[in-house]
Amino acid sequence: MDPDSTEMANEVKSKVILHWNCRGLVEFPEVIRSHGSHIQEIYLKWNKLTTLPPWIIELFNVTNLYMYGNLIEQLPKELGQMSQLTVLDLSANKLEQIPSCIGNLGNLKALFLNDNFVERLPIGLSKLSNLEILSLSGNQIVALPEWTGSLPRLKELYIDNNQLRELPNRLTIAPELAMISVCSNRLRYLPLNGFLSAPCIRFDANQYLNYVSYPLLLQLLSQLRTTVIHDRSSLAFGCFKTHYDTTVLNTNMKLYIEMKGLHEMNADVIIELPRQLLKIHEVHENTTCSLWELALRRIYIERYKHTLDVLTSPPNVTILYESFPKNTKLDFTLSSTNYTLYSLLMNGPSSICINTQCQQPIFTEAWIIIGISRYAESMIMIALCCSKSCATAFATHSNMTIKLHWHSIN
Ligand SMILES: [Zn+2]
Repeated sequence: MDPDSTEMANEVKSKVILHWNCRGLVEFPEVIRSHGSHIQEIYLKWNKLTTLPPWIIELFNVTNLYMYGNLIEQLPKELGQMSQLTVLDLSANKLEQIPSCIGNLGNLKALFLNDNFVERLPIGLSKLSNLEILSLSGNQIVALPEWTGSLPRLKELYIDNNQLRELPNRLTIAPELAMISVCSNRLRYLPLNGFLSAPCIRFDANQYLNYVSYPLLLQLLSQLRTTVIHDRSSLAFGCFKTHYDTTVLNTNMKLYIEMKGLHEMNADVIIELPRQLLKIHEVHENTTCSLWELALRRIYIERYKHTLDVLTSPPNVTILYESFPKNTKLDFTLSSTNYTLYSLLMNGPSSICINTQCQQPIFTEAWIIIGISRYAESMIMIALCCSKSCATAFATHSNMTIKLHWHSIN
């Protein structure tokens, strides 16, 4: 052994936490394998590693692995067998793909993958049942999977500086979410429903975001000191302009809203509705919902009591789950229709009827009221109701100062 290696070996032997940041290392030091089975935390930040060795599984006691700022392009499948890991930091590397095996890290509490080149998350990660922090900022992610809203312990989600066009509806029913940060994306709307856990939501610099829903507005206001917003940037800087992303081709419903001359708006506005919504009605439209929509509402109500109390601050969302009686047979053979039905129910309703006396879940069809709320005089707000009578009641009694005219442009 050369003197350097002897020195390194002695250091490994004497430490439980190994700080070898900024050492110009090009390989994961073999000396950790030979002398470091007792090591619990490894810091190898700002080195020049291009991969992790398969023998990393021999480091049975490592719970925290910090590999920030290396040149790692690929991860060995053996990493997925380090079941004792609680913190894994792979930020600022060259990863384009995240292997599914990371989902096997059943004790993982924090996963940092910021500043890589990741475009999508593998479904394997949905198994991370102890994950509390998921940090994905500075990647190329276009869509966040719905299952991120089902990670049972997730408390903090950071996905700033990506290419997101929407957030999963299921995030609204995530039980423990305390923080969502989605700044600098391409969001065209936020979920319409109130969030179950009333998290802090940061969404600055989403230039195509040009409206917000009534329940969410009230939840956002509760995070501010004031309950009235005169300047849109106090809620989120760089959002709520009249911009519309014309490059996006998709099937979401779009509404043309007449704004010219109203408040400081000098142009009419096009807003895009979340893709769950397939049909909408004006307040006065006296029609009945499709059987499909009525069935979705009925099945959801059978199983969940999902309420939204907008009179509290923050508006209080609760969901109570009623398990089916033992001999109820749920015959969901997964034909494509039933699969849609199943995922719509799993992802939660688009909104809860805003009429506080009603509170029916709304999935694909609603009566929509668009206006300017007394609470936020500089932005467009929308509210969804389950029927003509609820919409009329809300339009009459709500604190909207101006009701806006719209027409569908699809
Ligand atoms: Zn209703």
